[in-house]
Amino acid sequence: MLEIKDKKACCGCQACYEACPAKCISMVADEEGFLYPKVNRADCVDCHLCEKVCPQLNQASKSSDEPLACLAAISNDTETRLRSSSGGVFSLLAKAILNDGGVVFGARFDDSFAVFHSCAETEEELTPFRGSKYSQSDLRGAYSQVNRFLKENRPVLFTGTPCQIAGLRGYLRGKEADNLYLVSIVCHGVPSPRVWKDYLESITAGARPTEVNMRNKENGWNQYRMTIRREGQDLLNVQATDTPFMRAFLSNLTLRPSCYSCQFRGNHGSDLTLGDYWGIENVHPELSDNKGTSLILVYTEKGRHLLEGLDLKMVESRYEDALKGNPSILYPSQEPANRADFWKAYQKRGVKALKSFTSIGFMNKLRNVIGGYFGKLGIK
Ligand SMILES: Cc1cc2nc3c(=O)[nH]c(=O)nc-3n(C[C@H](O)[C@H](O)[C@H](O)COP(=O)(O)OP(=O)(O)OC[C@H]3O[C@@H](n4cnc5c(N)ncnc54)[C@H](O)[C@@H]3O)c2cc1C
Repeated sequence: MLEIKDKKACCGCQACYEACPAKCISMVADEEGFLYPKVNRADCVDCHLCEKVCPQLNQASKSSDEPLACLAAISNDTETRLRSSSGGVFSLLAKAILNDGGVVFGARFDDSFAVFHSCAETEEELTPFRGSKYSQSDLRGAYSQVNRFLKENRPVLFTGTPCQIAGLRGYLRGKEADNLYLVSIVCHGVPSPRVWKDYLESITAGARPTEVNMRNKENGWNQYRMTIRREGQDLLNVQATDTPFMRAFLSNLTLRPSCYSCQFRGNHGSDLTLGDYWGIENVHPELSDNKGTSLILVYTEKGRHLLEGLDLKMVESRYEDALKGNPSILYPSQEPANRADFWKAYQKRGVKALKSFTSIGFMNKLRNVIGGYFGKLGIK
């Protein structure tokens, strides 16, 4: 029976919860707002399926395996690219699957702006998946829905963090159908849903916003802004790295404990991995226009096939060049020495603690300790 003794050993993928035939596992939020499985012992039938599907217990990435290809790309659909976080490749892949009669899974906001996984069967339903949401997405039964569509022989594109891809592969237990396409994002780590909820409330004073964009490109991709709006009016419109929410995320204070020892880096079983091609201006200036450029890592022939016929500009790139601007491809984010202090303060003071731990003065002190890393993250 699954027992989480060390929080670092659970990435929250929910494979155990979905696989349990006795339905005796529930996902319960801890004091940081991250979900963990809780087994109801009385109903457990001792089948051990929860352990068998767990990617943390059974899978690890082959991070030393280089991708088959490393590409830089931008979508030719500029409008969609501007509404995407990077070069808009996700939307192109998703549309191709829909045109083939398929289904696309991705992360979106619910009515209260909590992030969860859902599926789209039309282009309209695809829109909410666009753009990065910096809060761990709640799977809410997505793996069993994937399985249902696969059994109907429909093409399925599942997108998510590397651990969510590993979770789905664990859930399917090696029965990966030809019609399943796995596309992960390069992942710095997933921030706490509780911090996101509290931060949003502090901006909106409890009234529901109509639009939230954590990677708004109105001032360009390099200087992305965070915008929160109600009926066209700005409640927040600032460079994202100036918000305490993004600063806490980028300085790793609010990441899930398992992210600091993430096992799903590099080749973690996806067909493709998508990210931002930071540093593109130095290596492929012809694809650098500050509207967003995607990095595509190709891990399988199936992934290569998926890229055929897409309406984009794409060039072959060098893996070493991509790694320079994007350490998250291979290395987990480091746990900050003051993480426990931060959470102690957060339990008492909430968003006020978020602000004091990410104030300019505090960040400057930290900069002296960890130096150049901040520059790479775009924090001035
Ligand atoms: C938490 C997080 C950390 C990231 N860290 C990095 C990084 O360190 N380096 C880097 O290069 N790129 C990182 N990215 C990925 C990058 O921001 C883009 O999502 C990616 O390049 C795809 O961009 P796009 O323009 O093709 O499409 P977009 O339309 O921008 O991407 C949407 C895709 O992102 C997925 N997505 C959005 N939010 C979440 C979420 N909370 N959980 C799971 N999936 C989500 C959607 O399902 C969809 O597949 C991160 C994204 C997230 C959500």
